[in-house]
Amino acid sequence: MRFLSADVIFPIYTEPISNGILAVSANGTINDVLLPDDVNAPEPSRVERLEGALCPGFINAHCHLELSHMKGVIAENTGLPKFIIEIVNKRDENAEMKMEAMRLADAEMWRNGIQAVGDICNTADTLETKQSSRIKYHSFVEVFSFDPAKANVVLKEGIRVAGLYQQADLRASIVPHAPYSVSEQLFAGIASQQSRFSGPISIHNQETESEDEMFVSGTGALVETFKGFGVDFTNFNPQKRSALHYALPQLPKNENVILIHNTCSKPEEFDYVDSLRKDVFWCTCAQANKYIENRIPNLSMWLEKQAKICVGTDSLASNHQLSILEELKLIQANYPEFKLAQLLKMATLNGAKALNMDKEKGSFLKGKLPGILWLKNVNLNEGILRETSSIQRIV
Ligand SMILES: [Zn+2]
Repeated sequence: MRFLSADVIFPIYTEPISNGILAVSANGTINDVLLPDDVNAPEPSRVERLEGALCPGFINAHCHLELSHMKGVIAENTGLPKFIIEIVNKRDENAEMKMEAMRLADAEMWRNGIQAVGDICNTADTLETKQSSRIKYHSFVEVFSFDPAKANVVLKEGIRVAGLYQQADLRASIVPHAPYSVSEQLFAGIASQQSRFSGPISIHNQETESEDEMFVSGTGALVETFKGFGVDFTNFNPQKRSALHYALPQLPKNENVILIHNTCSKPEEFDYVDSLRKDVFWCTCAQANKYIENRIPNLSMWLEKQAKICVGTDSLASNHQLSILEELKLIQANYPEFKLAQLLKMATLNGAKALNMDKEKGSFLKGKLPGILWLKNVNLNEGILRETSSIQRIV
């Protein structure tokens, strides 16, 4: 048994504990979180004392490991429609380079304290990296086509890819890319696969203004982008409601839903989601939003709406690093009302719940194997992260 103590321990399932003591077994399983004056507290000589805070490993609720080779390839602040064109045009690379980039990205995430990842895949490219990783992955096998005639072919490929992950004992579900890239027929196909590939559902949502414009009036930059790819909109009836109103009712009913980005989501949409279902998580990838659209969502409003917020890094195509801590710093720099305890809950337990991994990860509850991070150089009195705040993995 190892005993770790710090200025503050963030067990997450309960309030932070000043000078608490974490009892950990040799393999990293949490045995107990003790108050400093607990009758079961060990002899002081047995306690490893750390300056700063301890928290569970981070959960990255949204990444695209297979785009890791695109670090620095796409210019910043181009807006989503141009970004999509760049991804499509520049994502090809030789297999060896891709593989090396994925291995490095996986190692970077582990070093940065990330314990589990919700990872979007369009291919089985990430399979080997995930099999040999210490990180636990849920693979979201993403399908897209706005052309109803292509729904079956696209779904079949999704089933093939998800099957490969499943055969390798990796968790995988089939998910829609985004409202603007999935037809009603394809949504129905995705829902039909839920019993075979059970698990949470994710969907990119309202990342740019032109996404809602597409569903309200059938016009805008996104529609033009897809016309450029040959998508036929002649039979498309804009339904005069938001992208989310189009997508949400078509998602499978019995699985958690993770809405990704939500940069332009309005307050009434949080109420709409709440009225429809209670298992929806709102994932922010603030660094990526800043990279692509040079804006971040109104997270104060998310907080007011009591949304279940989790945090993702998105891919290295739209981020300079895969670090949840850097995401949290950016969030707090823009929205100081997010204090450290709140940020850490979003970065740990909320993400673990969203990915159905909270039995094992996301808090220091006894019996879990959540990873242990040492958070250094933080203003603990005021719950503020500094530019220089860093983490070191203990377990
Ligand atoms: Zn994404």
